[in-house]
Amino acid sequence: MEMKELKYEIFEDGALVKSVSITKIMPCMAEEGRVKLAMQFDSALDQVMPMFSSKFPPGKVNYIPHKKILTLNTHDRVISFFPSGRIMMMNTRDPEEGIKIITEFMEKINQCYLESESGDVDEDLSEKLSKIGPLNIYNCLPQTNCEECGTATCMAFSMKLLSGDATLDQCKPLLKTENLDKLNSIKELLGDQLMKTLGWVEK
Ligand code: SF4
Repeated sequence: MEMKELKYEIFEDGALVKSVSITKIMPCMAEEGRVKLAMQFDSALDQVMPMFSSKFPPGKVNYIPHKKILTLNTHDRVISFFPSGRIMMMNTRDPEEGIKIITEFMEKINQCYLESESGDVDEDLSEKLSKIGPLNIYNCLPQTNCEECGTATCMAFSMKLLSGDATLDQCKPLLKTENLDKLNSIKELLGDQLMKTLGWVEK
């Protein structure tokens, strides 16, 4: 029997997405007792998809530009976003947990929409990030292997950064005066938006 669609009004004045519906609940093959949720936003995502995809570290995201399909490995599950506004969320406890998680992404999507409306959009950001390797990042780090970031070496930190398991602001020595040239070089490599994607918070 077809289930009745469950509609959740999340934002009254969201810039692009305001509500999400759960259209189907299926057993999840990934883990017993968990469900797979099919959901649908009230708006299409095609306009924001390139920018949305650039908000995640390369190790967490798979983006197919010509289809505008984004798959994220996040919150211990896989979530796929389609340009029509359809979403598939795996390995979920129940609909309430799914809605809580998707609300976070709705906020991000609405922010991307506002940024794209302001005209400040670089369509190639996610492609640019996918071409940046650990060595590119390493060359912009202090290279002292001081372990302040909780990682044994600067190269290991570069790899964790790209896989989404570390954030750039964990490298505190980057803020030291003697490393100003390193900070400037990583800003030049990434640009403002990708600095934020990799977890840099401007002090
Ligand atoms: S804190 Fe920075 S300089 Fe120190 S090991 Fe980590 S990445 Fe290298």
